[in-house]
Amino acid sequence: MSENRKLRLLHMYPDVLDLYGDSGNVEVLRYRCKMRGIELEVNTHHLNKPDELDFSEQDIIYLGGGADYEQQILADDLMGCKESIKAAYDKGVFLLMICGGYQLLGQYYKDSNGEKIPGLGLFSYHTEASTNKRDRCIGNIVVQTELVGKPYRVIGFENHGGQTTDVGTPFGKVLCGNGNVRAGESEGYCEERVIATYLHGPLLSKNPVIADYVIAKALSRRGQDSTLAPINDELEKACRKELFSRLLTKKR
Ligand code: GLN
Repeated sequence: MSENRKLRLLHMYPDVLDLYGDSGNVEVLRYRCKMRGIELEVNTHHLNKPDELDFSEQDIIYLGGGADYEQQILADDLMGCKESIKAAYDKGVFLLMICGGYQLLGQYYKDSNGEKIPGLGLFSYHTEASTNKRDRCIGNIVVQTELVGKPYRVIGFENHGGQTTDVGTPFGKVLCGNGNVRAGESEGYCEERVIATYLHGPLLSKNPVIADYVIAKALSRRGQDSTLAPINDELEKACRKELFSRLLTKKR
């Protein structure tokens, strides 16, 4: 395996978009990189604090989830980053987005107060929430994705009022839970270098194959060796086995 592999991750709004421990996804990436001798440099972008970062020099851009209030307060700042995020996306930087972050990279999010928050418009989907604040999709969810080159079941927890439609290429097929819309068939959005999903959990601790997929794609874009030596995932495997037996035997 090659020496001195290094990646950069840009964590956007770490103190605002961090529902259900979404920042744990960054910790998982850091850990799984470290176990392979890869240094992961984590940079941050904060609300109303202009930075000198070149987004295209990052390898992964990460946005977690947030309630409607948080999405409202960061909307203008995020719009100010539109060209930087778009340029990074065009250059193959991996975009990983959870729930509120997922929604804001689409066309728009109409929140539960009926207020329309413009999205960055990188992707064709849009999201609307019911004005009945109790009308939310909440609970454990399992989806099956093909993104990683073989069927892989992804486990998480969803809590969203937003219903996302016009999703060209969903992340996965819903096996249990709701997904993009209530009682939906599909969940999230993906491209080779984009994962946008409603799955909190944190996503990557329960689904190490997804974490390694992100790392390998980021390495290959840098022209670095993307081979990842296996690491001991016995605990993760035991956790997944237990959750599948609890969640996939129940009817919706
Ligand atoms: N506020 C959004 C919604 O309710 C996103 C919530 C989230 O990130 N969990 O749909």
